[in-house]
Amino acid sequence: MTSSPEILEIIRRNWLDIQHRMQAAVERGKFRDHHPKLIAVTKYAEPEWIEALVELGIRDFGESRPQQLAERKDWLAEVDNLIWHQIGHLQRNKVRPVIEAGAIIHSVDSWRLLNRIEEISGELNHTTHLLLQINISGEKQKTGFNPDEFLSGIDRIPSYSHCHVNGLMTMAPDTEDEAVIRNVFRELRIIRDRARQMLHENLELPELSMGMSGDFEIAIEEGATMVRIGSELYRDLTL
Ligand SMILES: *Cc1c(COP(=O)(O)O)cnc(C)c1O
Repeated sequence: MTSSPEILEIIRRNWLDIQHRMQAAVERGKFRDHHPKLIAVTKYAEPEWIEALVELGIRDFGESRPQQLAERKDWLAEVDNLIWHQIGHLQRNKVRPVIEAGAIIHSVDSWRLLNRIEEISGELNHTTHLLLQINISGEKQKTGFNPDEFLSGIDRIPSYSHCHVNGLMTMAPDTEDEAVIRNVFRELRIIRDRARQMLHENLELPELSMGMSGDFEIAIEEGATMVRIGSELYRDLTL
């Protein structure tokens, strides 16, 4: 599997730049022991760009469409240790291919969807790892649990036998206002900490998936353990 040297070079440069910025954000923030994981979002990426990412050693890929995730998983079946992440809204009738692909689902945004994932995972005798998406900003165009809906239903989480809830995910509102963005990320962490207490620490919910190309440094300062980055990886390729 090869990509052109030019593409590889550009993506390598972008990737190194992102890694430096991630590290600097860790050091600026309060979570110096975190090693946030970069998930390369490939929803708009050309196959050749993905080949470059694989050559660079990246193994975590995020897709927003279940169909594309399943196709790309098959396409890259030869590559060892790939982890696929379903990051976009998931309809209940699209759950099966995502579970068959063994993906981690970041965008579980309702109890109904979680029930469906439990059902299909049971049928396939598979444990699905997932994150619950919380809509902190309350924007109508974003999906996700509202925080109260999540906290009031939390007791049911340990009863899912084929689902493992690894943590929470959120998306910041589309604004230039850094303080607003920071507050959303901070709020997700606070909700996670409350949830942990309410569950008497039976479930650690260690993962906080927050931060994209425009705001990953703020997210890391606020405790992100996973950042989902697309466009910054492909900078200078898309011009
Ligand atoms: C597209 C997408 C991303 C990546 O966005 P960029 O701004 O390109 O980094 C992250 N998370 C979700 C849920 C997305 O849909």
